[in-house]
Parts: sequence; C-alpha cells; structure tokens
Amino acid sequence: MEKTICLLPGDGIGPEILDQGALVMDAAVKKNGHTFHYTKGLIGGAAIDATGSSLPEETIAACKASDAVFLAAVGGPKWDNLAPEKRPERGLLAIRRELGLFANLRPAMLLPELAGACLLRPDIAQKGLDLIVVRELTGDIYFGEPRGLEKQDGSRVGFNTMIYSEEEIVRIAHVAFKTARQRRRKVCSVDKSNVLETSRLWKEVVTEVHKEYADVELSHLYVDNAAMQLVRDPSQFDVILTGNIFGDILSDEASVITGSLGMLPSASMGAQGPGLFEPVHGSAPDIAGQDKANPLATILSAAMLLRLGLHMPEEAAMIEKAVDKTLADGYRTGDIMEAGKKAVGCQEMGKLVVERL
Ligand code: NAD
Repeated sequence: MEKTICLLPGDGIGPEILDQGALVMDAAVKKNGHTFHYTKGLIGGAAIDATGSSLPEETIAACKASDAVFLAAVGGPKWDNLAPEKRPERGLLAIRRELGLFANLRPAMLLPELAGACLLRPDIAQKGLDLIVVRELTGDIYFGEPRGLEKQDGSRVGFNTMIYSEEEIVRIAHVAFKTARQRRRKVCSVDKSNVLETSRLWKEVVTEVHKEYADVELSHLYVDNAAMQLVRDPSQFDVILTGNIFGDILSDEASVITGSLGMLPSASMGAQGPGLFEPVHGSAPDIAGQDKANPLATILSAAMLLRLGLHMPEEAAMIEKAVDKTLADGYRTGDIMEAGKKAVGCQEMGKLVVERL
C-alpha cells in the first residue's frame, strides 16, 4: 500500500516529537511492506514567522492532498502577545475547519506500567482505565448563534446559544457506535436532558441511531453524574459519546486522571478526507530543544492514524505493543520517571520503540 502523510511539526517540542512519531510509524509500515510518502507543512508560530499566517495556503493544500495529517503542537511565549486572531492556536482551529473535522476521539488509558502516576486511589486505579471520549467538535454552544456581550437596560449581559441539529447528532453517533465495534461494544451517551432541550434531542437521536447497532450496548448519563463516575469508577466506560462543551470538559478530566500528559494521543475525523492525529499536550516551550520531551503521545497518535485514518489495525497494534514493551523494559522520559527506572531522552525513546516493533 502507498500513502501520503502530511507532517505538521509546529512549535516548541513539536519538531522533536514528530520526528520520533514519523520514524516509528515508517518503521512499522515498512515491516509489512507498505510505502509512505511524507510532505511537510508550516503551522502555528513557525508559520507566522515564515509567512505571517498561522495556516498558510500551501499547508492547507498539502493537508488536503494527503491521506492523513500528523500534527505535533503549536504555540509558545514568543507569540503570546499577538492579538487573539493572530495567535498560533488559530492555525489549529482553521485546519480543523478546512478539513471538516467534526469528531474528536480521545482515548484515556492507564498502562499497568504507569499505574503509579494515576491520580485515583490505588483500589480504583487497579480496576483499570481504558476508555475513549468521542466529542462532537463543530457545533453546540461554542458555535451557536446568536451570541454576544451587550448592555440591556443599563446592565451587561453575555449570551450564547446551545444548538444541535439532528444531522449533526446522527453523524457523531455513527462515529461512536463504529468506534465501539472496534473495542468492547459499549457506548455511554452523556447529556443534560433533564434540563436542556438540546440534550433531549441528543438523547432521542442517539437512541434512534442505536437501532442500527444492535451488537453495541447503549447507556445514558447526565453530565454531572458522568463527571462523578469518571473518578469513582472509570473502568465502567468504553466509549463516551458527547457534545462539544461536555466533551471538552470530560475528555480533559478523563485524561488527567491517568497522570501522564506525555502519553495521550488524539484523533479528529471528518465525513471524508484526511483525519488529523496529534498528541493532547501542547508545545512545552519550557523543555523545547533539550531532547527531554516524551514522544510517546505522538507515537501513540501514529497508531491512531494507522488504525482510524488508514484502516491498518495490525500496524497500529504493533506500535502500541512496542510502546508497552519499552515501558515494561523500564525506560522513562523525565515526565514519567520513577525511582529504579532508566532515564532516556526523546530520541532514545523513539529508537527503543523502533527496536521493539
Ligand atoms: P503544555 O502541554 O505544552 O505543557 C504543560 C506541562 O507539561 C509543561 O511543564 C511541559 O513541559 C509538560 N509537557 C507537555 N508535553 C510534554 C511531553 N511530551 N513530554 C514531557 N513533558 C511535557 O501546556 P502549556 O504549557 O499550557 O502550553 C504551552 C504552549 O502550548 C502554549 O502556547 C499553548 O497555547 C500551547 N498548546 C498547544 C496545544 C496544541 O497544539 N494542541 C495544546 C495545548 C497547549
């Protein structure tokens, strides 16, 4: 198989971690006789410095011409004083819009090797944690109109509109049920249907779409209860399906309890065209250029790219197993270091994973 991947290194530790992610991905696919071609695009602060725009036209074209987009991270203190619409992070929002990415998939898992980093009580952590949050990314109160900040009768009011159309809910529900079919076949849909009409429609439509997926179990939780259950017993969840604002909060909660920011991958998918795969963390300017960054979130994003973006589950599993093995052999970057383990830098960590493929 031949595929083209567009690499977007971005800023800070971005280039270092993406180098390792691409190395591991390339080694995995080569082992099975596939050939990947790579293009590179500027995004974020690096793109602002070179072109004045956080997402130049050439980058958009290169992404659209690819089979998948592999991004590291953007941003840094150098650009912090720019006006909001000129900041590096705008490039991220713009590429998601350009590629029509409406589904954000964020797994949170607790690798047995890193159980010590988990923020939960040991008896809860021991039950394990392996879930994925499927978050709608382009609708909801973040984009609903009307919105504004104005004076009414001499007093300031701020307002936003929470809105979902049936079509938007249908397409994200399909993503969640299909994702569950590749996992433990359980979807928990999260809403606030006891209070919000938007959520009542959400629940109704998800229940209707579920009729096409009799092999998947569907449950519903109110968002306040879901937030509580995530810390009480996250082992009960497989796929959590939710809207943009609830998903924003729950996906951060789910990932932070694992305690290892440098380990978390993510995927954003559209109806067609290339998906975008990136680590959850930012550009870590405090450790950029020092070979200290943990490349594993990026390497695990490569596994998501292969599984979800290119339907190559075998190569994805090879990468995930190689990461597990590297950790089991005791290698750690600084952010996940524990007593008695072997400290390695970013490049060495990538090399160790390649050796274990
Ligand atoms: P951050 O995720 O970059 O860093 C938070 C802390 O975690 C830092 O101490 C950092 O050193 C550490 N860290 C993060 N990733 C690591 C890794 N792979 N290995 C080892 N340590 C790691 O968040 P921040 O400091 O709030 O933001 C820094 C910049 O990144 C800001 O400009 C922010 O806007 C941007 N940002 C970008 C994205 C993205 O590109 N998707 C996401 C979040 C933040």
